[in-house]
Amino acid sequence: MPKSTLQPFLAACVLLVSAPLMAQTVTDVPLSDAAVRTKPAAQAAAQTAAKAASEAAKRLPTAEEIAAERARLERMRAALAAERAALEQYKADLVKRQQEAAAKAKAEADAKAAADAKAVGSAASIPPPAKDDPVSVKNLSPEELQRQRQLAIERAKAIEKAVAAQKAADAKKKAAAATPQTTSPKDKDVAAMKLRRITHDKVRYVHLRDVAVNYGLTFAYTKNKANKISGAVIYDKTRKAVFSATYRDGIVNGVQVYFLYPMLLKNNEPYISEVDFLTCLDPLLRYKTPVKLGMKTIMVDAGHGGSDPGAMNGQHKEKVYTLQIAKRLQTQLEKLGFRVIMTRTGDTYPTLQDRAALCKKYKPDLYISIHCNSSTNKTPAGIETYRAVPVGGTETKGSKVKTEKQSANEFDANSSRLAFEMQKGLLAATGAADRGTRHQAIYVIGNATCPAVLLEVGYLSNEAELKKIASPEYQNKIVSGILAGLAGYGSFLR
Ligand SMILES: [Zn+2]
Repeated sequence: MPKSTLQPFLAACVLLVSAPLMAQTVTDVPLSDAAVRTKPAAQAAAQTAAKAASEAAKRLPTAEEIAAERARLERMRAALAAERAALEQYKADLVKRQQEAAAKAKAEADAKAAADAKAVGSAASIPPPAKDDPVSVKNLSPEELQRQRQLAIERAKAIEKAVAAQKAADAKKKAAAATPQTTSPKDKDVAAMKLRRITHDKVRYVHLRDVAVNYGLTFAYTKNKANKISGAVIYDKTRKAVFSATYRDGIVNGVQVYFLYPMLLKNNEPYISEVDFLTCLDPLLRYKTPVKLGMKTIMVDAGHGGSDPGAMNGQHKEKVYTLQIAKRLQTQLEKLGFRVIMTRTGDTYPTLQDRAALCKKYKPDLYISIHCNSSTNKTPAGIETYRAVPVGGTETKGSKVKTEKQSANEFDANSSRLAFEMQKGLLAATGAADRGTRHQAIYVIGNATCPAVLLEVGYLSNEAELKKIASPEYQNKIVSGILAGLAGYGSFLR
């Protein structure tokens, strides 16, 4: 068949195939603008094709040409069907994604509504479907299909963009929440602080309101039932120190802390002793130590031993439990990569001077002495952490002011933070009563050559606490409390 006669024939065949579809387009689907515009064009095409078909009929095509043409038309039909199926699938996916995005946005918006009114990516940020969005695309013309498809692609892009924006916003928020300390305020140098000072009863004091200002804390008085000033509190979102105008014990970040002197009220103004400020309070308020010290080598001192049983309750001896806990601690510390030096590993009694000499010889970074408490009264229970008495201060259970400096006094500030972290870690791990961080003239910690603490991990004279201390489970809790304390102290060093 010559080319000139084949063309009209093909046009007629196309018309035969597509005419029923066009008829359905205009009858089954509500008329959109596009459908209305295509109607006269389709009619004109039908007339032209019919005319061409009558002319083509004068010369009949061969059987092969007809077969080939039929096959081609079948392929076109199949391609069109595949196109429609793909579009249906696309639409189904799109609806699913829209629903998922809307559900996700709603859930997140609900969850954050109270905390954050400006939640990003709420359902409103996803574009609504176009008004002429067809319920079914089965009977649309190819042009309309193409138009709908383009709309669908644009909407899908908009949705993807909104979802991506939401994800990015969520990730940013999550990251900000996970790293709260990266931008902690920089600690001021104590020497650069402007603090009003006075002397009272031969003791130097600093103005507590000035202290608060220098650490960015809020100051407030505390009052008793008679509405008289009982003490003071300085605080911000993460730090809080409570002082008593009567007693030496205060509370710092939830842990009982014995200061060296009570808060002083003079001319209706609040003061704390300068030695308390420098060796007790400052190390607990600041984020990082200004003193560069390590914590790689740790000396673990099991209290008493050999001829010295320590405290006793019936057959229970302090020396046995201090060694058991010390050995458990040694195992865990070595697992974590610390170098551990034990003052004793068996039932022997190195004298206090021997132990101090070991510290001087091996120069550990930290010294931790483990003891159990005892009282003639069976009631007391709980944990205490001791550190050396700073020069100019007094023992927690005494009033004599210390005048002679010991080797450990070089490390008063770090020992204070170490004691605080140990007490905090031990209380959290054991649930024991908080008897506070204290100061006492204890030979081994006063003569240490590094930050040093002595832990009284519980009362053997209290039957319930004795039972716990004798158990491996509780001893492990004590060890994990010490490890938590070391972790806290480590963050102070970095
Ligand atoms: Zn002891």
